[in-house]
This record gives sequence, C-alpha cells and structure tokens, in this order.
Amino acid sequence: MRIVVVGAGLAGLTAATDLAADGAEVTVLEARNRVGGRTRGVEVAPGQWADGGAAYLGHRHTELGSLIRRLGLATVATTMTGRSRFSFGDGPQSTDGRFPPLNATALGDLFDRLYELTAAVRPDAPWLTPDAARLDRQTAAGWLDGTGVHDDARRFFPLFLGEMMAADPADVSVLHMAFYLRSGGGIRYLNAFAGGAQAARVYGGAHQLCDLLAAKLGDRVRLAEPVRWIDQDGTGVSVRTDRAYHQADAVVVAVPPVLADAIEFDPVRPARRATAATGRGCAIKVQLVYPAPLWRDHGLSGWSVSADGPLQSTVDDSPPGGAGVLTGFVTGRQARTFARLDDKSRRAAVRAQIQRLFPGLPAPGRLVITDWLSEPYSRGCYAALFGPGDWLALGPRLTVPHGRVHWAGTETSTEFFGLMEGAIRSGHRAAQQVAAA
Ligand SMILES: Cc1cc2nc3c(=O)[nH]c(=O)nc-3n(C[C@H](O)[C@H](O)[C@H](O)COP(=O)(O)OP(=O)(O)OC[C@H]3O[C@@H](n4cnc5c(N)ncnc54)[C@H](O)[C@@H]3O)c2cc1C
Repeated sequence: MRIVVVGAGLAGLTAATDLAADGAEVTVLEARNRVGGRTRGVEVAPGQWADGGAAYLGHRHTELGSLIRRLGLATVATTMTGRSRFSFGDGPQSTDGRFPPLNATALGDLFDRLYELTAAVRPDAPWLTPDAARLDRQTAAGWLDGTGVHDDARRFFPLFLGEMMAADPADVSVLHMAFYLRSGGGIRYLNAFAGGAQAARVYGGAHQLCDLLAAKLGDRVRLAEPVRWIDQDGTGVSVRTDRAYHQADAVVVAVPPVLADAIEFDPVRPARRATAATGRGCAIKVQLVYPAPLWRDHGLSGWSVSADGPLQSTVDDSPPGGAGVLTGFVTGRQARTFARLDDKSRRAAVRAQIQRLFPGLPAPGRLVITDWLSEPYSRGCYAALFGPGDWLALGPRLTVPHGRVHWAGTETSTEFFGLMEGAIRSGHRAAQQVAAA
C-alpha cells in the first residue's frame, strides 16, 4: 500500500512511522525545509538547547512519554523553587509561590465558574455537551462580561487564557475554552508545574523527537514540498506539490485546519476544516540567555506574570548545569502588537521590562525571539482557536475521512487538543484508520 503523509510535525511523523512499521510504502511531504512543525530547537549556547516552540509535558502525556523513551531521549524537571514576580500596573512585587497578589476571593470566584464550565463539557464530543449551541455561540469575553466578576478577576482572566491557549478571550467560544481546559487534563493539571502539564521538558529540546523520527524514515521524508492539490478517484489518489505528482492509495493530511483548507481537493470536500470564525493561537517566545540561572541567587524562581507586557509570563528553562535561560511568552493581542515592531524595538521593550521585573539581574547576554505569527506553515500557535459556532460546525467531522484522505494533527484530537500529546495520539489514530480502510 502506498501512503502519502502531508506534514512532518509530530502527528504526520507518528502516522508515517506506524504505517511504515505495518509495511506500507510511505512518503512524507513537508512544506518547510525542516521537520518538526510547531516544535523547534533554539541553540542558546554551544550544544545547549531550549525550545522555541512546544516544550512542556506531564505524566498524563503517556504517548509522548513512551515516544521519548523509545527514541532514547530523557526529560528534565522544570525548576520552580523560590519567589515569583508579578506586575499588574502598580509596580512589580514578589510573592511566595505562584499565587498572584490580587484579590484571592475574586480569583477563587473566577476559577469556581471555570471549573463548573469545564466539568460540564463532554470532552470526547464537545458538540454533544448539554447546552452546546449556547456555549458555542458565546465568546469567552462575552461570558466574562456576563459573570459580573470582580475587577481583579477581569485583569487576571486574559493572562490566564493567554498562558493556557495563546488566545484572547474574544477569540474563542466558551465551549472551546471549556473543552480545551478539560481535554488537557483540567485546569489544575494544565496550569501546574510539579505534577502537572509543565512538569518537565525534553532534555536537549522537543525538536529532537521529530528529527529522530524523520531520521528513521530517511529519504521517505521530502522537505520543501508544500502540497497544493489532492485528487482522488476510485482507483487512487494523486498528490501535487510544486515539484512533483505523488501517486498513493491513501493520504494522511496532518496539518493545522486552516492550512488543510488551503489545499485544493478534487472532488471537493463536503465540509471545510475551518470556518471564518476559526482563529489562530498567537505566541511569540523569547529566550533570555545568562551565563547561569542568576535569579536563583536572589531567591527567585524565574516565574513572573505581567499585565503590562510585552512578556506576559517568564519561566526558568535553564538546561541543567548550563546557561541560565528565562523563557518569556508573548501571546494573543500582545503578540499581534509585538509582531508589528521592528527587531530593535522588540529587543528594547523586552530588555526594559526584564530590568523592571528583575532589577537585580544584569542584561542578558543573548536574546532569541521565535515569532510564530510570521510562520506561514503554522497558523495557530500553540493551536487553532475554535471561535463561535466552530465546534458545532466542525467537531462532528474532525476525523471523518474524505474518501481516501484521512486527517491527523493535534486539532483533530479530542484528547490533549493543541498539545504534543494530542498530535501523537492523532497520528496513531489516523494510521489505524488507514490500515482499517
Ligand atoms: C510557542 C509554542 C509553544 C507550545 N508549547 C507547548 C507545550 O509546552 N507543550 C505541548 O505539548 N505543546 C505545546 N505547543 C503545541 C505543540 O507544538 C503542537 O500541538 C504540536 O507540535 C502540533 O503537531 P502537529 O503535527 O499536529 O502540527 P505541526 O507541528 O504544525 O505540523 C504540521 C506540519 O505540516 C507542515 N505543512 C503545513 N502545510 C503543509 C502543506 N500544504 N504541505 C506540506 N506540509 C505542510 C508544516 O510545515 C508542519 O511541519 C506549543 C506550540 C507553540 C508554537
């Protein structure tokens, strides 16, 4: 059986690996001149790597954990000891632990409401959630307005959603927000470092997962071959790229939904993969590199949250025994504004903020910016954002094949949607679907 896999991210490479192990003749077509998609290594010092894309994982990411072990890679625990820094417009403050210096009752009230929404959603089929149509119509911003919560909760909510989903409250439906939080293991798990979804990173960088999977597939992976057109009939499928036609018995399309819709299909698909309301998560990562994790000498964990940006949060991503790396996140609307700045202004804004937040730190030796908004082959970082109406329109068809064309990618997984774990699970599911067909 000849199979073409479109996209050499974690989903596509997982599907290709499974299918090749089953004896299929596999070709992986990748648009970029690298594999890995939304994983990407950043060399912060000679031989020391940080993650410009996906980084964190937890013990519930069982498929990812088993892939890490199978590839002979290791994980390193995320360090989170010491005081946190917060800035909510009235000057930076330190606190013990990660709880922000805001009205605790107000935040408790906000999270009680979020827990209630999250508990009610049907994670395997969000469109079948009781009252799904109403929850799918309303944006998270509209929902917040209707709650009448305290101002401190209103200040904190966009930062929380930015960190969790790289989204603004206006970008996502309430149903998508509740589903995403539930699909990732619940609010507590998703938000936690020790024992949660950010407990560890891949030692040496998550990009190695795709590099190693692709190395095993060898010349079956073809780079710089964006797929433009997929034509099928009763006898087979023809996949056209800028360079060649590839004939196959079946195809797995493992790209984000908006990019799947950029491919022409003949015959035309009965339904699109995205709608006009489907947005893209907007994330820019900034790595600030020091000779060592100097903030630890000041009793600080490196964790910070700021309402005044551009970095909304920072976390200690230092490789063990090596350079000090603070990773900053710019997400949602802040990311769109930051992306419009020229490189000099971006760097100046980051340096000025870090000086305010961590006055004891010297200037970083290096500053590496990974701007996912300017990546034409991602369009949704961390992931696609389902806007009003999307779950009801798109959900029931996410994994339904179009003839010989099957779908993978983290956005097709109702388990750990938007995460590496979801991407891997979707790759296994698509490979099984092809084999069964
Ligand atoms: C900044 C950032 C931080 C993140 N943090 C985390 C984290 O801490 N933990 C976590 O678990 N996840 C995280 N994620 C999400 C995670 O990276 C993704 O869920 C996962 O990598 C998606 O894998 P995928 O294979 O579904 O898609 P992708 O990685 O997007 O792979 C799709 C591939 O298809 C290619 N492609 C697109 N169009 C075409 C075409 N027409 N023809 C051929 N090829 C095409 C693309 O170039 C790409 O290589 C983060 C993502 C970002 C960007």
